[in-house]
Amino acid sequence: MHIPDIIIAIDGYSSTGKSSFAKIIANEFSFLYLDSGALYRGVTLFAIENGFITDDSAIDVPGLTEALKNLDIHFGPCGTYMGERCIEKEIRSLEVAGKVSPIATVPQVRNYVDRKLREFGKKKRIVMDGRDIGTTVFPDAELKLFMTADPMIRAQRRAAEMQAKGQEVDLDDVLRNLQERDYIDSHREISPLTQAEDAVVLDNSHMTMQDQLEWLKGLIRERFDC
Ligand code: C5P
Repeated sequence: MHIPDIIIAIDGYSSTGKSSFAKIIANEFSFLYLDSGALYRGVTLFAIENGFITDDSAIDVPGLTEALKNLDIHFGPCGTYMGERCIEKEIRSLEVAGKVSPIATVPQVRNYVDRKLREFGKKKRIVMDGRDIGTTVFPDAELKLFMTADPMIRAQRRAAEMQAKGQEVDLDDVLRNLQERDYIDSHREISPLTQAEDAVVLDNSHMTMQDQLEWLKGLIRERFDC
């Protein structure tokens, strides 16, 4: 199936399988996949390692803002890089997951990430996932999906994913973390997680990846007459 040169924006709650689905879409249609959450996670790792988050979880916003001027986070063969260093594994830890949503409320951090994302978006044929892609980063994206699923099913999926990577996990901790992130992401002042008016909802609680791909192909055929 050949589809036109478009941007596909995928937003939704934590652990709804946005990135797994986006990677499958990228593979199926030869699109470039961009994981916006990885940039927020990279900034969070940087903030943790450089003391911009204090023991009582406060963020040194002026210090972090200044440091962002020289921060190089980008994508490459191993996934996400900070300078030359591959940080793909570290940014997926529960420690980073526990601090990323507060970091993502900082306007200067959002500006930093948005600038990078829009740079990539100058090209079409990309699929990008996040929380505000269809509403803020690419409000003109030709196809917007909003993904959701039952919270317990999401927690089980994320726990299984972490276990498969050899990380120790407690299901309750994972569930708590994703509910906290959903809350902060949906209630922050700037670019909160909301469904774009023209987004199509995908509740994948009881769908396999193959079901989702078939559903998407149907939607694309209908929408773009291809
Ligand atoms: O998608 P992922 O779970 O890796 O994102 C990590 C966190 O980054 C989210 O919980 C959210 O706080 C933040 N984020 C965001 N806007 C995006 C993508 C991620 O605020 N577009």
